[in-house]
Amino acid sequence: MDKTEPFRERIKELTELINRYNHYYYVENQPLVSDSEYDQLLAELMDLEKQYPQFRLPDSPTQRVGGEILSEFKTVRHQVPMLSIDNTYSEQELRDFDRRIRELIRTQTVEYVVELKIDGVAVSLIYENGLFQLGATRGDGWQGDDITANLRTVKTLPLSIKHRERLEVRGEVYMRKDDFERLNRTRIEKGEEPFANPRNAAAGSLKLLDSSLVAKRNLQLFVYAGLLKSQPATHWEVLHFLKQLGFPVNPHGRMVKNIEEVLHLCQSWEKTKDSLPYNIDGLVIKVNCLKTQELLGATSKSPRWVVAFKFPAEQATTILEDVIIQVGRTGVLTPVAKLKPVPVSGTIVSRATLHNFDEIMRLGLKIGDRVFVEKGGEVIPKIVKAVIQVRSGAEKEILVPRNCPVCGSQVVKDEKGVALRCPNVTCPAQVKERIIHFASRGAMDIEGLGESRVTLLVDRGLLKDYGDIYSLRLHDIVNLEKMGEKSARNLLLAIQGSKKRPLSRLIFALGIRHVGAHSSEILASHFRSLERLSQADEETLAAIPEIGPVMAASIRAFFANQANVQVLEKLHKAGVTTIEETQPESNLLGGKIFVITGTLSRYTREEAARLLSSRGGRVSESVSRKTDYLVCGENPGSKLEKARSLKIPVITEEELEKMLGKG
Ligand SMILES: [Zn+2]
Repeated sequence: MDKTEPFRERIKELTELINRYNHYYYVENQPLVSDSEYDQLLAELMDLEKQYPQFRLPDSPTQRVGGEILSEFKTVRHQVPMLSIDNTYSEQELRDFDRRIRELIRTQTVEYVVELKIDGVAVSLIYENGLFQLGATRGDGWQGDDITANLRTVKTLPLSIKHRERLEVRGEVYMRKDDFERLNRTRIEKGEEPFANPRNAAAGSLKLLDSSLVAKRNLQLFVYAGLLKSQPATHWEVLHFLKQLGFPVNPHGRMVKNIEEVLHLCQSWEKTKDSLPYNIDGLVIKVNCLKTQELLGATSKSPRWVVAFKFPAEQATTILEDVIIQVGRTGVLTPVAKLKPVPVSGTIVSRATLHNFDEIMRLGLKIGDRVFVEKGGEVIPKIVKAVIQVRSGAEKEILVPRNCPVCGSQVVKDEKGVALRCPNVTCPAQVKERIIHFASRGAMDIEGLGESRVTLLVDRGLLKDYGDIYSLRLHDIVNLEKMGEKSARNLLLAIQGSKKRPLSRLIFALGIRHVGAHSSEILASHFRSLERLSQADEETLAAIPEIGPVMAASIRAFFANQANVQVLEKLHKAGVTTIEETQPESNLLGGKIFVITGTLSRYTREEAARLLSSRGGRVSESVSRKTDYLVCGENPGSKLEKARSLKIPVITEEELEKMLGKG
């Protein structure tokens, strides 16, 4: 027997197991194993596939993380065109639809299947020999884009099915409302344009050429049609069959006996649709019997056996009374519209989001305008447009704030020019989050100073910024809720102990925008003192490798803010270390840049990094043309390949020790 045979077997076994766990977790909402066990199995599979790529199976779950970067999408011709569906907007139109069908097929009543109309992006999925082969967008109905790589990242999409015949399945890719809100929050934080609604977010995600980015969007899928070679008698049975094959079929579909029951469902969903975790914009009503569907056929535009009932547009007009500015926890200024209260789909709306000031410009809004307000699936309604024809002339311009409405600091514009931000660390709107970050494990690591305690201390007025942490006294905190003398003493000890953290930790703890842990290390080893860093001009900063102009501007803005200077003064007075204490013992390595990969036998990575910098070397996380040496330990990762391809010298641990003058 081939020696590698057991590995082939194990890869097959893991693939099947993980695909099964995936299905139960994502489609059935019924996890079979703990997350950590799942992660372990997946890691094992990834590892084996790396060693034995020839055994990787086409339905391997490791493909779901994406990775393929395309320059463009190929065009795919649909074998069966994806026709559009006629819309109806009223009870009468639905009754007309039913009457036409009954007249055409000469019958008393028609059985229908009523499904939710998911507000997403229509896709076609092709399976051959039981494997997912091709996925495409609807496009113009006749041809769409090949988005197979992106669709593979949708976790509810089965990569293999127990059905050998060619099968085309159609469905809707969508984004859940909570994922949408989260995505937009991060986009706003990053100064990127938020998506208007979950459908746009799903469509935008499917258009990304880098599938590893799509994998992070957590897209979802429901299927609603299968073009089977041997059709069962009804659409209802098709749905059942698809579900058995492992496809996600929406659980709210219903089979009903007549149009009265259809109307009843329409009414009840109109009232309850907002409680769903995703958006629907109506219901789809299909003739259940497939023979009848065939008989009815299609017009050139759409099939005669199906119709959509669209919920009435949830818009209203009202007056924009004012625009107030909110300051978020990271300092982003968000304009919020204050509206004359108006009912929109059952609730009274008095506020609407405006996202940012560019949005106000785009809409051309003025205070006092009559505006259209729309309530989509989003939690907060939004302004769609202003009715400028009815302006009286008394409307007022909306001014872009130059100062933070909470603390008065001069605001800064994001590099992308969309978001406005308050750069002041003592701004009350941001102070809690900043203190929590300052004390967190990766920063100053003050044990016992977590979210709940920080909240308590800020609310009691004991902390106004993170500089105050070091002037806390025992009698201040001992009487706080749930804090006895022992834990108060421990907290003070932890605070004392944090004064001696390395400079890089302190820089990271300051919470300068864009400056993460890694950049903090670079800055610390370059400047070796907080004072020197604070005096560096933008040009000097931008010239440091891996820093760049965006970070440079942000660092400059931070130290230019007077309130920040005062906080730094508090840290200094409290005796917090603000210089790099470990001066390089020698400059043996003369600033050469090292990257470490794999496991070293004598040092942890941190130890090796410290050793290198003590000899005047620098350590970087990733291999680039600037790298001077790659230090290669046991089980090296992809950095080794990269270093080889860039012809960067690779050295062993022993060779490294020789360079350090140790071997
Ligand atoms: Zn502020």
